[in-house]
Amino acid sequence: MITVTKPFFPPIEDYQKYIVKIWENQWLTNRGNLVVELEDKLKSYLGINNVIVMTNGTLPLHIALSALAKGGEVITTPFSYVATTSSIVWEKCTPIFVDIHPEYLTIDETKIEAAITPRTTTILATHVYGNPCNVEIIEEIAKKHNLKVIYDAAHCFGVTYKGTSVFNYGDVSTCSFHATKLFHTAEGGAVFSQDEELHNQMFFGHNFGHNGPHEYFGIGTNAKISELQSAMGLSVLPYMSDILDSRRRICELYDSFFDNENFTKLKIREETKWNYCYYPLIFKSEKKLLQTQQVLNENNIFPRRYFYPSLANLPYVEQKSLTITDDISSRILCLPLYYDLTLEDVEVISKLILNVNS
Ligand SMILES: *Cc1c(COP(=O)(O)O)cnc(C)c1O
Repeated sequence: MITVTKPFFPPIEDYQKYIVKIWENQWLTNRGNLVVELEDKLKSYLGINNVIVMTNGTLPLHIALSALAKGGEVITTPFSYVATTSSIVWEKCTPIFVDIHPEYLTIDETKIEAAITPRTTTILATHVYGNPCNVEIIEEIAKKHNLKVIYDAAHCFGVTYKGTSVFNYGDVSTCSFHATKLFHTAEGGAVFSQDEELHNQMFFGHNFGHNGPHEYFGIGTNAKISELQSAMGLSVLPYMSDILDSRRRICELYDSFFDNENFTKLKIREETKWNYCYYPLIFKSEKKLLQTQQVLNENNIFPRRYFYPSLANLPYVEQKSLTITDDISSRILCLPLYYDLTLEDVEVISKLILNVNS
């Protein structure tokens, strides 16, 4: 069976080496040595000043929204994973959906200003499939209207834009280290902010708001990562260049099979060093997509309809149709892509797709 993704397993000896340290330290959670070591290594690997590693990639969104969005309206993308919208609603804010760009698939920055009202506090946009939003224009709009910017950068591990980590843009960026993501800690995530005060606020926020045993900085939750999860991250990190190489080869091979007549491929924003985290393919019609999916499934191959349906159709939001999002989400399929997917399998998958679509 070939699935859309598969976690990377580092050699078990690498993980055991860290587990031995945990037993020696007799420390399982509450900011042990391994999470501190992981944060230090991430700072130098990614080229960032601040990071707080957390227990998943959703709580960083909650904590950032709690700090910045203040229960207001949050301008957001309908083309993302459900966590982007659910966090907004969970934090008692109102999601205001703005359509996406037809080629980059990120929020269409030219449509943001029309959605701003006196209640707008924040823009929460996703760098979808690791493809950066138009961060310059979004920053201009935010400055002009005094709004905060949060990027759901769950897909962006290792992505650079104009020579610097994409995590350096916006007031806050978040990432997911879930098992199925590019870099992982089984379950995990992180928050990044260049603003020291905000960084501190979010640090307190991820540990119940504690400022010492009996004092509280403000409201908080529990988003702490354990030493066991950190050990996984430390074991995976040394293999990032192997992981990226393998994924690049797979994406290049897929690219060589699909022409621009029967398919549309993701357009990566100029001046981006991408991380090959997903391989989305847009079909001529939803019918073609469904036929293709059926043929692949019959061959024990399971791509996924990321992202479908539009988040603006969730049962707990004010539902809204958005021309580009509704169209793209009905025709886009993410093909299998993971470290040990063989090039032979990529060829088999591609040929099955071509049979249905040419
Ligand atoms: C994976 C993902 C999340 C959630 O991350 P978890 O670590 O699973 O909590 C949020 N946003 C996007 C866009 C994602 O793909």
